[in-house]
Amino acid sequence: MTKRHSSPGGRGLAIYPGSFDPLTRGHLDVVQRTSRIFDSVVVAVAHNPAKKHTFSVAERLGMVEDAVRHIPNAQADTYSGLLVDYIKARKARVLIRGLRVVSDMDYEFQLAAMNRRLWSAVETVFLMPDENYAYLSSSMVKEVARLGASVDEFVTPFVARQLAKKFGA
Ligand code: ADP
Repeated sequence: MTKRHSSPGGRGLAIYPGSFDPLTRGHLDVVQRTSRIFDSVVVAVAHNPAKKHTFSVAERLGMVEDAVRHIPNAQADTYSGLLVDYIKARKARVLIRGLRVVSDMDYEFQLAAMNRRLWSAVETVFLMPDENYAYLSSSMVKEVARLGASVDEFVTPFVARQLAKKFGA
């Protein structure tokens, strides 16, 4: 007898956490890939007072909300405290991270190992973005915006406007 799943073909809810300071087209590419594999995805914007961000958590959330509006099974949220506690509270088990280049690996593997230590049931799934975004980072985008060049290629129109406001372009 075949076992019936509550969501045939789907894999439940995936949580994609990060700073998203700001969200780039690379992040969005990962959200889109996740939305095609899982039933739904929550992009979880980290509220970590110990980290210095360019944009407030409300601004970062607003940019994510705007960008995922057209993806029916994606939503935005914020979290603070331990990521694994947030994942448990959302009744999820899968955590998504993006892997761009080999240099991401050290940090990402450390993070995945720590999260697994904190909660052995959590599963980190790494997704690779389109190669056009392999060298794209929030900090690089901010640097380009700060220097007054166009960032349209790298971020959504809404994020580009927020960057222009922030850096007075
Ligand atoms: P964090 O501070 O948690 O690393 P980031 O917003 O920098 O937050 O990144 C969130 C996740 O998205 C990380 O797994 C990071 O590797 C991934 N990521 C960042 N930029 C890209 C990109 N251009 N393509 C794919 N993944 C990316």
